[in-house]
Amino acid sequence: MSADACFQWGRRRVTYRVSRDERRRLKITVAPSGMVDVTAPVDATDEEVHDRVRRKGGWIAAQIADFEQYRPRTPPRQYISGETHLLRGVQYRLRVRQGAASRISLSGDRIVLETPHTESLIHKAALLHHFYRLEAHQEFPLRLLQLAPLFSSEGMEVPKLIIRPMTKRWGSFTPKGSLVLNLDLIRAPIQCIDYVIVHELAHAFEPDHGPRWRRLMDKAMPDWRDRKQRLETKLV
Ligand SMILES: [Zn+2]
Repeated sequence: MSADACFQWGRRRVTYRVSRDERRRLKITVAPSGMVDVTAPVDATDEEVHDRVRRKGGWIAAQIADFEQYRPRTPPRQYISGETHLLRGVQYRLRVRQGAASRISLSGDRIVLETPHTESLIHKAALLHHFYRLEAHQEFPLRLLQLAPLFSSEGMEVPKLIIRPMTKRWGSFTPKGSLVLNLDLIRAPIQCIDYVIVHELAHAFEPDHGPRWRRLMDKAMPDWRDRKQRLETKLV
């Protein structure tokens, strides 16, 4: 049997789901989606459970915030002239103009998008997506080649790289040993791209963000906290 319950922590409303089993201690897990699961001993009353979960409120809220911040946010796009688009942390202004063929190029501080279909949102979005894909496929493998040796003392070889759109994460490290990077990361400054790569490579040795993972990060990239913050605050 499970039920949803909630409490207020600062400005955040924390909802959690309680299930019961034969365990003796309360267990709280926060999923990357923000979902809070509580497994409680069968004989604990709802009040006791609520009380104990609430006492862990600071930790739960911090976990949720941590996952939220590591989640990409992309504003809705109209693909009209004057709109700004990021590439490697630099803001470019979009210039849309009528052309006989579809093409996209960088010119100074502008991304120039030429197409016979200037009114087609889908067409323009696809062109820009293609442009970002090419840029990401050029940049990310180079960054990975530079950064993987940071973990060579741990026995790391350059892992297989997969670049694809991801809605909830900047990257991941798969159980099979591949590094997956969010295509959208090409919008971030190089420093932040490097941070995400190192963040995920460290997960090859430690799946959680616990002390061991932090030690690996501190050793490989001493200023990772600054880069993380930059990724979270600068990229919109
Ligand atoms: Zn992580």
